[in-house]
Amino acid sequence: MKASRKDTRRKSLFDESMEAFYRAAELIKLDPRVRLELEEPDFEHIFYITIETRDRLVPVTKEEEARFKDLPASSVKAGEALEPLANGQLVLHRRALLKADITLREGVLRIPKRGLFRIEKGGPKKFKAYRIQYNQVRGPYKGGVRFHKDVSLDLFKALAADMTWKTAIADIPFGGAKGGVRIDPSAYSKEEIEHVSLRFIYKLKTVIGPYVDIPAPDVNTNPEIMAIMMRQFTDGERMPHAMRGVVTGKDVRIGGSEGRAKATGQGTVYCLEEWARWRGESLAGKRVLVQGFGNVGTASAEILHALGAKIVGVQDAYGTVYNEKGLDVPALLAHAASPDNLRRSVEGFTGGTKVAREDFWKLDAEIAIPAALGGSITGDVAENLKVQVVAEAANGPTTPDGDKVLGERKIDLIPDIICNAGGVTVSYYEWLQNLRMEHWTEADVNNRLERAIKANLGIIHDIATNSPQKTPLYDSRRFVVGKKIDMRTAAMALALRRIENHYLLEGFSQ
Ligand code: NAD
Repeated sequence: MKASRKDTRRKSLFDESMEAFYRAAELIKLDPRVRLELEEPDFEHIFYITIETRDRLVPVTKEEEARFKDLPASSVKAGEALEPLANGQLVLHRRALLKADITLREGVLRIPKRGLFRIEKGGPKKFKAYRIQYNQVRGPYKGGVRFHKDVSLDLFKALAADMTWKTAIADIPFGGAKGGVRIDPSAYSKEEIEHVSLRFIYKLKTVIGPYVDIPAPDVNTNPEIMAIMMRQFTDGERMPHAMRGVVTGKDVRIGGSEGRAKATGQGTVYCLEEWARWRGESLAGKRVLVQGFGNVGTASAEILHALGAKIVGVQDAYGTVYNEKGLDVPALLAHAASPDNLRRSVEGFTGGTKVAREDFWKLDAEIAIPAALGGSITGDVAENLKVQVVAEAANGPTTPDGDKVLGERKIDLIPDIICNAGGVTVSYYEWLQNLRMEHWTEADVNNRLERAIKANLGIIHDIATNSPQKTPLYDSRRFVVGKKIDMRTAAMALALRRIENHYLLEGFSQ
């Protein structure tokens, strides 16, 4: 018999990411109209941006090298005039040619100490860009901007939905959004990335704003990019200083919040402290695996290391390092930040041994922190994990199969929508400070963050274990569902109740 179309259709990433939504909606008997409102985004902005790219020097192939072996070296002004990219190419800024002595053959030249390169002409380039505004019933749309070669509408819908649940769980007055550009940032210069960022905001200007939609950093975007996005939005406005809250995750010197850079990792660690407390244990001495050594991975590793935990394994896109006695985290951070480490990678770190990529999650440890991209904890990976808990610092790191296996194997889970909510929570504090023209201390920020994360995680834990209670910090009695459920569904149940309240109490406008 022929299988129906429905049977054979592969689930999209968005469909997969919504499984917990449907599970929780069913369980709490979410109002049917609210459910329809939340099944799809409010708006899907898909657009294109163009920039002008510079000429490049592209390494010649191995086969070609022999043909140019007698080519004399050219002397060009190196330094920043020849900008090395993480993909091995060099961007040729015109000033490199000032006082240069160049020998070109068939468009190829030899750069001392670097090798043979072919000049390739730059020109206009087009990139696909997205901003998905998922829901705003609780407040302005809020979510990061990702620059990556593998982004899609489907991915951004999933991530924007996640932001909607996350802001509700963090109990901050924002909705959910996400967006970014399909680009491989390792192939573009700093100036070209700046131009991409400027055009991105130029195109979005009419649909974002401090009370409308507030972007923030995500994968491959950072405080410098937030600064130029803010400038692009506020340039020429009559009251630019009143609009600093249009983006968060800015540098602290221009309206960013103390503690924001580390906030996501800090939130993950607060969650892990609570997890250890539930078990009557402490984090000191626990062995930790961290996947991803960017903003979130480095902060998580650094804070856990300071608390006495042992970071035994770290993996990023280019390498994996392992040390059963615990890696020297400050030394690893210095290695990744060194100026000639263009990929900011842990690869080549001498304070540990190399491990095959596929063996990373099989390493012995108590805590696993996926802090890279989505989908890394699959069913197969979960089968082989030796840890006691997975703390989802990344967005969507566990697939539905992975979830099932973690549950069967009784490995604890701290779901992403609370585990990495520290970032958006401190983004809210940054937004508040911008609107009030205040600057809070790091201690103020972290105290508030700790209380918020631990209280909301406490409610989720109470829902999961069906233990309604009123404590000095929170009241979980309104949220329990009358039976024990898994932590991911519990987190979603909390988010949906808080969102539903807005719809039911404010009503619909038709
Ligand atoms: P980042 O760009 O600073 O770092 C990403 C890291 O992941 C890099 O070290 C990169 O090498 C690594 N990586 C990429 N592909 C990999 C692969 N296939 N295997 C192993 N490592 C890989 O990004 P970030 O801001 O640290 O974000 C990491 C995750 O945390 C993302 O899922 C993001 O959505 C989520 N997140 C970030 C924030 C924030 O405040 N930055 C907040 C909430 C959630």
